Amino acid sequence: MSDVASAPDRFARWARESLRAVLMLIRLERDGQAFEPTALRERASPCVPVAGARDDGPIRPSLSAREEPEVHLAWLVLRSILEHFELLVGEAVVEPTGFSLRRSDDWAFEQDSPAAMLAALAHPCPYRCAFCYEEGLPDAARPKARRPTSDSELDLRMALWRQGRDLAGFRGLRYGEILPHPRFAEALQAVRQVADRPIPIATAGAGLNEEKLRVLAGRPRVLVQLSLNTCDPARRERLMGDRQAARLMQLLPRFRELDVAWAASAVAWPGLPFEDLAATVRTAQEHGALHFVVFLPSFSKYFPLERAFDWEARWREATAFVRDLRAKVRIPVRIAPDSWEAARCFGDPLAIEVIGATPGSAADGRLCAGDRVLAVAGAPALPSRPAASRALEEAWREGSEVVVRVDRGGKSVEVRLSAGDAAPGHPGELDAPFGVHLYDGPDERNLARGVGLLRFAGARRGWMLSARLLAKPYELLWDRLQGANAQKEDARDPQPAFP
Ligand code: SF4
Repeated sequence: MSDVASAPDRFARWARESLRAVLMLIRLERDGQAFEPTALRERASPCVPVAGARDDGPIRPSLSAREEPEVHLAWLVLRSILEHFELLVGEAVVEPTGFSLRRSDDWAFEQDSPAAMLAALAHPCPYRCAFCYEEGLPDAARPKARRPTSDSELDLRMALWRQGRDLAGFRGLRYGEILPHPRFAEALQAVRQVADRPIPIATAGAGLNEEKLRVLAGRPRVLVQLSLNTCDPARRERLMGDRQAARLMQLLPRFRELDVAWAASAVAWPGLPFEDLAATVRTAQEHGALHFVVFLPSFSKYFPLERAFDWEARWREATAFVRDLRAKVRIPVRIAPDSWEAARCFGDPLAIEVIGATPGSAADGRLCAGDRVLAVAGAPALPSRPAASRALEEAWREGSEVVVRVDRGGKSVEVRLSAGDAAPGHPGELDAPFGVHLYDGPDERNLARGVGLLRFAGARRGWMLSARLLAKPYELLWDRLQGANAQKEDARDPQPAFP
């Protein structure tokens, strides 16, 4: 591309460099024909609106390119260049009408997880939940309307999957409902052929029907995580705007009948009576859900004022209710964020408390809610919940036995769990190893790394940046680590101190 003749220097340089960078990623098209611009020329007056990624602009990237954040960025840059400059091929002005990825291979990464691969199918969520953060977001931050992943993009992705790769940018930005995609069954099969890892399928129910359940029927190591929120169709319609709520409720028995592994969740929104929450947990249990998660609700600063509520009071009530409910139902009922319960309700926030055991799992009937874990696999006095969880996960992965010692009402009880005791196909990695639900908690490995770093740097003091929720457990864990380290280290070493 030659230099720009008539534009002010800095502006022209920005446009030229930006276009050069963008053209490394994309190939411009005019009515389906690729072309390479040779120069830029400043327009007499700006012509293309660039405020946001509007669908009515003249550039329509092909291959659903806008679905990839980096390509979307390229698209925005291109639009802002075209607002002020026109593209020349030789002497002729050519206005692009679209673009495609220059080398789709450049966008391929090593596959990491089947769930991330399937996220490529994500449709925008059709619901409008009262508690959804997106509902309160300012327009600029709202996810843009998205089209379903096109056939050409999915074909390309599946070809890459077979090579052990995937087409993805920032996968974390991809979310939505994957079940409504018409090629869901084919994509699931393709993922399963190349990635033998557990697959969680999170859904609020969109696209869930008899056909999709049959696709999922009897599939080992696939777990549907359904945001049920309530078992009352009328209430679900009011809460989430789900007009098909009654149909979803009719489908619930089919999970058990078709042997589809699933777990359910609900947001303990202030408008939702606790009796309804209890009924929803029981309904999920009746239809074979492996566990239930109760999300403690909050609100973003963008929510309208009338949505604000005393979140702390609600969290306390909901937590107390769930702790009471656990003794009355068979499935484990978790609270998220779980550190809230650990910090506020346990006598010792670092205690390793059992939330429950999944019905039909190895732990069913052997461990129960409220047991305090003292040792796993013979290692006494485990320092934290993550260490206990890891010990269980390792034993589960190896398909071996593990001995867990717990304190039950002041008595020490030892139970032997064997992977072979679980129901066939029990997705232990997605539910809980051996069906033992423990709380996650502060991870002592991160703290140990922090201590090591401080020592390495010769620091005399360190700061822990943690959420308010985690402050107490972290403080205790920090003390324990310091105690453990003090035994090993020379007393003259500079000791990091909790501020
Ligand atoms: S299902 Fe989830 S993403 Fe959809 S509206 Fe409700 S909270 Fe938001």
